[in-house]
Amino acid sequence: MFEFLFLGTSASAPSVHRGLSSHLVKHRDYRFLIDAGEGTQRQILRSGAGFKRLDKILITHGHLDHILGLGGLMSTLARWDTMEKIEIWAGQHALDRISDLLFKVVLPDKGLPIKIDLIPLETGVIMEDDKFSLSAFPVVHRGRGCFGFSFEQKTHVPFLNDKATDLGVPFGPERGQLVKGNAVTLADGSVITPEDVMGDPIKGVKLVHVGDVGNTAKLLPYVQDADALVIESTYLDEDKDMAKKFGHLTATQAANLAVEANVKQLYLTHISRRYREKDVIREAQAIFPNAVVARDFTEFSVKREK
Ligand SMILES: [Zn+2]
Ligand SMILES: [Zn+2]
Repeated sequence: MFEFLFLGTSASAPSVHRGLSSHLVKHRDYRFLIDAGEGTQRQILRSGAGFKRLDKILITHGHLDHILGLGGLMSTLARWDTMEKIEIWAGQHALDRISDLLFKVVLPDKGLPIKIDLIPLETGVIMEDDKFSLSAFPVVHRGRGCFGFSFEQKTHVPFLNDKATDLGVPFGPERGQLVKGNAVTLADGSVITPEDVMGDPIKGVKLVHVGDVGNTAKLLPYVQDADALVIESTYLDEDKDMAKKFGHLTATQAANLAVEANVKQLYLTHISRRYREKDVIREAQAIFPNAVVARDFTEFSVKREK
C-alpha cells in the first residue's frame, strides 16, 4: 500500500488556502517527501504527519516554488540528532541550487550532527527492496533535469495456508521450502509441489507522481496503468497557449493523459490562483470522470486487491 498526502497544492505562489508544492508518500516504514516548497515545515506540522523518519526527499525540479522550503526544513532537521542521514535526490541543475541554498546560506557551518547526501537523479530505479521499487523518469518542463517518480509494489504470490494444511503440510521448514519454490516430501511419502500451495500472482499497485510538466508525449510508458497519477494542472484549456509558453499542463491535457494511459484515479495539483477550483474539476472530469483536484491535506491510498 502507498499512502499519499498533499502538503501543498498551489502553483508558483501560495494562496490563502493552498501552500506550495510538497507531498508525502508513505510505504511501510519508508517516508518520502516529494518537493519542499516554501512553508513545507508548517504544513507538515499542521497535517500531523510529523518529522520522524523524514529522511528521503525527492525533488522534481529546481524551481523555487519546489525547493525553497528545504532551507527551513533542513535547518530544523539538521539540528536534531534523531536521524543520522538525510538523502535528497534531484536532477543536477536542481541539486546545484539546493547545494547553494543549504551549504552557502542555511547551513554554512561544519560539524552538523546529521549527514546530508545530495544524490543526482538519473532515469531508472532509485531504490528497491523485495516488496517495492521507486524509479525516476525524465519530464519535459522549463530547464534541464526534471523528473517524475514511480512507486511500484512488486507482484505477490500468496501462500495458501489453508490448502497446505488440507494437504497435511506441517507448520515449519516445509512451508518455507515451498515458498522458496522447492517441492517437499512429507512423512507419509507424498510429494507437495509449490504449485499445490501457491495462489495466483497478485499484481502490485503503482503510484506515479509528475511535478511541473509542459508536454505529456513521452510520459505514456511511465504512467501506463497507474492506479493513481498525481500530476500538475496549472492552466485551463482557454489558456493553453500560456500553458505551452511556460511549460505547464492544462486540466484537459492532464485528463487526456489519464485516459490514454489507462490510469485508474487522477489527482490534479499545482493549481493556479487564477481559476476557481470547480472549473478545473469540471474541465478534467468531462474527459476523465475519476479526476480529483487535490487540496492541501487531501489524502489517499492505493492498495493491492486481496
Ligand atoms: Zn511549480
Ligand atoms: Zn516549475
